[in-house]
Amino acid sequence: SLPIIGFIALLIGGAIISAVRSRSSALGALRSAVQRREFVVRYQPIIELQTGRCVGAEALVRWRRYDGSIVPPEEFISLAEASGLIIPITDQVIDLLVAELHDVLVADRNLHISMNLSAQDIQTGRGLDYMQTQIGRAGIRSDQIWFEMTESGSVEIDAARATMMRMRDLGHLVSIDDFGTGYASLHHLHSLPLDALKIDKSFIDMIGHDTAGSKVMPYILDIAAALQLFCVAEGVQTQEQVDYLVERNVAFGQGWLFSKPLTSEGFVAFYKERKAR
Ligand code: C2E
Ligand code: CA
Ligand code: CA
Ligand code: CA
Repeated sequence: SLPIIGFIALLIGGAIISAVRSRSSALGALRSAVQRREFVVRYQPIIELQTGRCVGAEALVRWRRYDGSIVPPEEFISLAEASGLIIPITDQVIDLLVAELHDVLVADRNLHISMNLSAQDIQTGRGLDYMQTQIGRAGIRSDQIWFEMTESGSVEIDAARATMMRMRDLGHLVSIDDFGTGYASLHHLHSLPLDALKIDKSFIDMIGHDTAGSKVMPYILDIAAALQLFCVAEGVQTQEQVDYLVERNVAFGQGWLFSKPLTSEGFVAFYKERKAR
């Protein structure tokens, strides 16, 4: 049986080497994407549910490869986080949103853009200085840039709190992303300087379905009310969901019912159409 074990060991060894190789080549590709600035941003409208007005958008990054193909964030964000490349990618998202949307943001002070931040962005707080410089130059106000931070075990809570305090002091709005899907956060929630909770799509999906999961929504809304946070519902796809949310005073929502993520031109057109209503 020894030759068989040897053969298996060879197979496993080969698999590990090829996994390491493909990971390091994926990293190489991502690194050159950062150098070549191959990222683009799409904007998904955020709607005031009572009125249907468009109050802003969430900036969502994509990687547009040299061949024109679009890589969704699920396929590169975790590698970007693990390698530290998320920091320059966040800077590029800032550059893009400032370049593409500064006209409309300067024209309407009530319009905002919501940015996703990773644990490292929050841990170091480095992107914040860059953000201030870039939006300052463009004449965009801090309260027009909101931040979405995912609950994550890898964020050191005191460092996160410090960065969030600075964000708040500068005038940004701060929210917890994917609320309800993370862990250990309830413990810290009351001690974090927060403005809003972003309710994850998985909870919105359950509205109107009589499942155990659908009974969680009232608790999420109770937590938000107790902490005096407003809510943004993600992944809204039906009018039934809108009715449920409006009835329970959820202020804002986004989802395919209103719009998929759009190019900057598409978003500006959508916003103007909604304003004229
Ligand atoms: P997320 O922050 O939870 O973003 C919401 C995701 O749900 C987006 O996917 C959005 O397109 C999708 N979505 C919104 N409404 C609907 C709907 O009605 N139906 C369905 N099926 N999907 C909907 P996307 O753009 O693929 O982003 C995936 C994740 O990638 C984001 O999840 C976020 O965690 C991460 N991400 C995106 N952009 C950035 C970024 O600039 N920086 C960082 N750090 N993470 C980002
Ligand atoms: Ca988000
Ligand atoms: Ca997220
Ligand atoms: Ca989500």
